[in-house]
Amino acid sequence: MYRFRQVGVAFWNVGWFLVTFLPIKKVTYKLKIMYDWADDRRFNSYSRYFRELFGSRVQKVAINAGFTCPNRDGSVGTGGCTFCNNEAFTPSYCQPSKSIAQQIDEGIEFHARRYRKAGKYLAYFQSFSNTYAPLETLRTIYGEALAHPALAGIVVGTRPDCVDGEKLDFFAELSRDRYVAIEYGIESTFDQTLRAINRGHDFATARRAVEMTAARGIHTGAHFILGFPDETDEMLLAQAGTINSLPLTTVKFHQLQIFKNTAMAAEWEQSPERFTFKNMEEYIEFFIAILRRLRPSLVVERFAGEAPPRYRVGRDWGLVRNEELAARLDRRLAELDVRQGDLYES
Ligand code: SF4
Repeated sequence: MYRFRQVGVAFWNVGWFLVTFLPIKKVTYKLKIMYDWADDRRFNSYSRYFRELFGSRVQKVAINAGFTCPNRDGSVGTGGCTFCNNEAFTPSYCQPSKSIAQQIDEGIEFHARRYRKAGKYLAYFQSFSNTYAPLETLRTIYGEALAHPALAGIVVGTRPDCVDGEKLDFFAELSRDRYVAIEYGIESTFDQTLRAINRGHDFATARRAVEMTAARGIHTGAHFILGFPDETDEMLLAQAGTINSLPLTTVKFHQLQIFKNTAMAAEWEQSPERFTFKNMEEYIEFFIAILRRLRPSLVVERFAGEAPPRYRVGRDWGLVRNEELAARLDRRLAELDVRQGDLYES
C-alpha cells in the first residue's frame, strides 16, 4: 500500500514539474484549403501547372530564332501593331546571330545566376512570329532546340494567322514525347480594337487558330493586353466570357504599356484622354474582377508585368518586380476572400 502511495506521489511530482517548468508550446493548426486546381493558391497558377506536369520548378529561357513578322515585312502590313516594341521584352542574350544551342546555354546560365535553380527548362520562342517560315525551316529550328539535352520542351509564340494544318500537325508530332505549347498573341477579342491597333487579323482568325491547335492535343496559350484605348472596364469583364469559350490551357495578361518609338506613343502624345491608366492597386482590384469570372481550369501564367523603364513612355508603376506583383495579388485575394472562377458562368 505504501509502495502504491509512493508511486502515486512520484507521478504527481513529475506531472507538476512538467507543467511548471517545461515551456508549453502553443500549437495552432492552419487548415489549408485546396481549390479546384488542387492548390491552396487562390488562382490556378502556372507554377502549380508545371509542378503537376514536371514535378519540379520549370524555367523558360527566351530564344530569338531570327523570325520576322508578316505585320512588318509587308505581307500583312508594314507598320506593325501600334504598341509593338519587341526589344522591350527581349533579354540581352537573345541574339539571332547566335545559334539556338548557344542561346539556350547562355539563357540557362543567365537564370541560374539570378534565380532559384530550376529542375527543368523550356525554350521560349518569344520574339516576333515563330511559325512565320516554311515548314522545313521550322523543322530545322525546333529540331535543333529539342536536341539540346537540358530542354524539356518548347513554347512557341506566334500570331494566329501564321499557322495552318500542316504546321500544327508538325507541332503535334513533336508534342508526342516533349512538352510543346503554342502561345498566340490575341491581345483583344474585339474586332474594333484589333483594327485600331493595326493587328492585321480579326478575332475569328484567333479563335480558329486556337481551336485547330487544341484539337491536335497541343497545349494552347493566349496573350491579352488590358486597357487599350476606347476599351471600357465593362467590355473587359465581358471579354472574360469570350476567353472562357476558347479551348485554351493557359492565359497571360498584361496591363497596357506604351513603348517609345511606337505608333501608340504618338497617339498618347496626341490624345492622352483616350487612355485609361490604372495605378497598381486599381489594376490589381480590376484584374481580380476578371479572374473571378475566368474558368477555373484555365491556367493563369501572368496578370501584369513591367518592361524596363528605359523603353516606356506615359504613366507607369515605377520599378516593381513580378514576385511583388504576385504577392500583392495573393494578399488581396485573401483579404477579399475570393478566388478564380467564383463568378464563372459556364
Ligand atoms: S506585336 Fe507581334 S504581330 Fe504585332 S507587329 Fe509586333 S511582332 Fe508583329
